[in-house]
Amino acid sequence: MADIQVIDAVKTFGKVVAVNHVSLDVHDQEFVVLLGPSGCGKTTLLRAIAGLGVVDSGQILIGGRDVTYLPPKERGISMVFQSYAIFPHMNVFDNIAFGLKMQRTPKDEIRQRVQQAAELLHIEDFLDRYPSQLSGGQRQRVAVARAIAYHAGVLLMDEPLSNLDALLRLEMRAELKRLLSEIKATTIYVTHDQVEALSMGDRIAVMNKGRILQFDAPTVVYDMPADRFVAGFIGTPPMNFLEGQVRRENGHIKVYIGENFAVEPIPEMAETLAAYDGKPIVVGIRAENMEALSQPADDALRVTVLVVEPLGSQNLLTIQIGSDIIKVSTHPDFPARMNEDIWIRFPSDKIRWIDRDSGKTLIPDLEKLTAS
Ligand code: ATP
Repeated sequence: MADIQVIDAVKTFGKVVAVNHVSLDVHDQEFVVLLGPSGCGKTTLLRAIAGLGVVDSGQILIGGRDVTYLPPKERGISMVFQSYAIFPHMNVFDNIAFGLKMQRTPKDEIRQRVQQAAELLHIEDFLDRYPSQLSGGQRQRVAVARAIAYHAGVLLMDEPLSNLDALLRLEMRAELKRLLSEIKATTIYVTHDQVEALSMGDRIAVMNKGRILQFDAPTVVYDMPADRFVAGFIGTPPMNFLEGQVRRENGHIKVYIGENFAVEPIPEMAETLAAYDGKPIVVGIRAENMEALSQPADDALRVTVLVVEPLGSQNLLTIQIGSDIIKVSTHPDFPARMNEDIWIRFPSDKIRWIDRDSGKTLIPDLEKLTAS
């Protein structure tokens, strides 16, 4: 078993609290992504798990064993860190084979594992070359191949695809995901690329300012972000936010947006929103969850299109509602033109309600909501 537990970890650099009371439970063979903006503490947390930096307080367990103060080589891990470069005096084959030789793995097996890892990373033609004869992206792939070939129970990777061009990155993402499920390592993978996180992770820990704000499956993080930060960080484009005003009318809770357009929450939310009667609320909705109509409808809001961005598989429209500028995604054939009016429907079940002060998403009954 190679489950990983981080218990209330704190790591500071002078006055900077890089990791602020973080707890994280990663299951055996799980693929967990640490995702967050630059400087949020992802690398510091991963380095602490790897043993490259010791936490100020808290504990790290791997496979139930307290490794908080153990050096990396005693933790049963392999890793890819930008700072943990490949050896310049060894050719690519020997770099990839390094850990396996140290482990006294039989020669045939070493050859087979090096070949498999090199093929996966498309570096099988460079096995005789030295790192100085490789590009930055190729060197990075050697580091990933070395970590993969080793077959440790735990694999820790810090932005392993960051130096690759967009196309190779896309291809590698899927191949790496397939391979990691085959070698059954418990993986923690750091990235600031949310598409990479959504596509690869079994679960994503979204970090900001040294804390984990949400730790859930990609679909949950995307569909039910825990707060405004997560909602505004995940998705391309990120979730839209509108100013709303809650009002009770004839016993029904409604939320007004724009000039005077009422949206009705789903019944499961009405009770929670009743506490905001007469108060503002943030209305969160994703671009693809609104319905754009070219004709008026009673339940649709009239808006003017400010910008049309044809993106091939969709058209992204920029519209203004009250003082908020938001994005709406439509089918590429939808007839929208700049400065012309369209109508927008807001499906109640797709709206996320966010407390304006705390920034937290209101979730009264998650099970009821996902079942509906
Ligand atoms: P990035 O995506 O840019 O790599 P990150 O989320 O991995 O960012 P960390 O590298 O963990 O962020 O840094 C977290 C915070 O700790 C930052 O404010 C950073 O400046 C600070 N920090 C990290 N390492 C050190 C160090 N050795 N000395 C001083 N401050 C540090």
